Amino acid sequence: MFKLKKYKPSDPLKTPRFTGVKTFMRLPHIKTLVDIDFAVIGVPSDAGASFRTGQREGPAAIRKISALLRNHNPILKISPFDYLSGVDYGDLPVIPGYIEDTYKQIAEGLHPIVDAGIIPILLGGDHAITLPELRAISKTHGPVALVHFDAHSDTSDEYFGKPYNHGTPFARAVEEKIILPEKSTQIGLRGSTFSKEHLDIPKSMGFDVITTKDIHQQGINKIIQQIISKVDGAKTFLTFDIDVVDPAFAPGTGTPEIGGLTSGEAIELIHGLKELNFIGFDVVEVLPAFDPSEITALLAANVVFEFLSIIAYSKNKSKRK
Ligand code: MN
Ligand code: MN
Repeated sequence: MFKLKKYKPSDPLKTPRFTGVKTFMRLPHIKTLVDIDFAVIGVPSDAGASFRTGQREGPAAIRKISALLRNHNPILKISPFDYLSGVDYGDLPVIPGYIEDTYKQIAEGLHPIVDAGIIPILLGGDHAITLPELRAISKTHGPVALVHFDAHSDTSDEYFGKPYNHGTPFARAVEEKIILPEKSTQIGLRGSTFSKEHLDIPKSMGFDVITTKDIHQQGINKIIQQIISKVDGAKTFLTFDIDVVDPAFAPGTGTPEIGGLTSGEAIELIHGLKELNFIGFDVVEVLPAFDPSEITALLAANVVFEFLSIIAYSKNKSKRK
């Protein structure tokens, strides 16, 4: 049988799931870089939000509802904590209202974790946080492929004359050469845009752009193949903006767009990516003030669980080779 992993969630059949301090999935809250494969890290910043604010409350809401998750994934037939040891590392430091200082603190706080070979799993926060995450990751791994789930491309040059906010992170990431746009895909775009050229911007940078309409017309399996062949074996960061899912399933978010994926379709797309070489993950734009029934946070917690399951899957697969 498996060697027992050092850090894993409390057994839900010994202590009820509603008990204990609210860490992700009741993992131990330990700031260690030893004996762990992944670290769940909160990034409670909404300094980059352009419309509604309150994404700073996202990590706490995701942690709270994540207590509901169980340890086995019956679709992928894997129990992630048989293969992975991990902790809830707590939150990275942020300075409300000061995005450039916050960026510096996120990148500096994250880099030692990445550099220790640990997969970071980041809970946002608005989508502006992904830029300093990618700065920290590229410092260790070099430029990475991006698999980007979102209703929006987030490749605007500026908002209100300013370069850093949740509408611009991937324009900056391309300029800074910390991602490989020629190996990257944006999935789930939809909704009204600022101009008729808006969706041409990411395409001109090298991204593949897959709209929600493309997914519904072509089918999930074809889209999965397109994403995998675009990545072409590169190290990959998965960024999941919760607004890729329809506001019927994910109402608690900053810039909702109608006509999105169902939560089930989003999970199926993630399962399809289980063969990719992921080096990091974030889920962003959960806004608890607009999420009274906690379904948006519940979706985010499940998306993290599916991500843990696919990294466990690839770890198990590489062991069997
Ligand atoms: Mn976004
Ligand atoms: Mn979005």
